[in-house]
Amino acid sequence: MNYEAFFGEELAAVREEGRYRVFAEIERKAGSFPYAKRYIEGGTMDVTVWCSNDYLGMGQHPKVLDAMHRVIDECGAGAGGTRNISGTNHHHVLLEAELADLHHKEDALLFTSGYVSNWAALGTLASKIPNCVVLSDALNHASMIEGIRHSRATCKVFEHNSPEDLDRKLAALDPDLPKLVAFESVYSMDGDIAPIAEILDVCEKHNAMSYIDEVHAVGLYGPRGGGVAEREGLMDRITVIEGTLGKAFGVMGGYIAASRDLCDFVRTFASGFIFSTAIPPAVAAGACASIKHLKASNAEREQHQARVAKVRGALDRMGIPHIPNPSHIIPVMVGDPHKCKFISDWLMDNHGIYVQPINYPTVPRGTERLRITPSPVHSDGDIDKLLNALSEIWSQCALARRDMAA
Ligand SMILES: *Cc1c(COP(=O)(O)O)cnc(C)c1O
Repeated sequence: MNYEAFFGEELAAVREEGRYRVFAEIERKAGSFPYAKRYIEGGTMDVTVWCSNDYLGMGQHPKVLDAMHRVIDECGAGAGGTRNISGTNHHHVLLEAELADLHHKEDALLFTSGYVSNWAALGTLASKIPNCVVLSDALNHASMIEGIRHSRATCKVFEHNSPEDLDRKLAALDPDLPKLVAFESVYSMDGDIAPIAEILDVCEKHNAMSYIDEVHAVGLYGPRGGGVAEREGLMDRITVIEGTLGKAFGVMGGYIAASRDLCDFVRTFASGFIFSTAIPPAVAAGACASIKHLKASNAEREQHQARVAKVRGALDRMGIPHIPNPSHIIPVMVGDPHKCKFISDWLMDNHGIYVQPINYPTVPRGTERLRITPSPVHSDGDIDKLLNALSEIWSQCALARRDMAA
């Protein structure tokens, strides 16, 4: 085989389809989010970032930066090993206690990312519990799907956000089999939110464990930022709550929160936990400071929701189609990969507005979109600039607008 030719041909096919991934090279400016420097051939330009998952701007929060600087000076750069061998730092232990408290669980377990936490926790639970059957929401994140696949457990996919279909699928199984139901709270591409209480009713009816990914909700919902399950008073009914420290908390890392024995079980058997170097102590301390701050402060959450409502209202007035949803994610629909990429490039090159195009396989073909994530750090002026630019390109491209009278 000519390996190089194979790589080239595969890439050419992706380009042809208009879904070749080009990453904007940016340098975020701490203290001036959402502004960043973009590197282009021969220089740089200033841009406004409209697609960050640092939803609240915690990545530049003084308390987070202070904690990180202090702990770098105290503990040095890295953890110095896997947790198992030599890398369990005091700051990892403090962070796990903070996370257990956030979700009112007995314990929590840290991983290097949210992806690894899903892959390792689901992979371990589903493979180590004898004859475990996994019920997985049809739109679950790749990290959950990979973990379930890796476990080699039987997996039944239930219709997205459908407790009825979940109930049917569970009822068809031998009642004595162990069962694990895996789903998300906020789905990050459409921004819809799961009917968590109804799903838990069905889990309890069939004696199934429940596993929720609250990656796009922790820090953002609930009186202390515990997620949608906290807001709805449901945390104690969920077996495992999984989250990230890399999105609303603004740092990096992932975790599960659950009973002491479940966390201990995953700690003991998960290869993705045991054989990987722990996150740097300074990162743990930064995440801890971020969680602590957001437990006590609602200002960021309120501002966030107000910014989202403002952008949405303006899009409605301009008739620019976006998926209505009860979350903070605004998917502006384009429906064609080439157009989606073109609009994204045009916004960046002409207006210094950075919104990454979202194409297949992240979303189904024909539903290509611009995923806009307003945050408390976007000013009224930033919003006006974004909306004027979108309006201009929508007219130029003769893209459909919603019936303005509707
Ligand atoms: C981003 C994401 C993850 C992975 O979290 P990271 O900390 O970025 O690795 C897991 N689940 C969902 C739904 C995500 O969007």
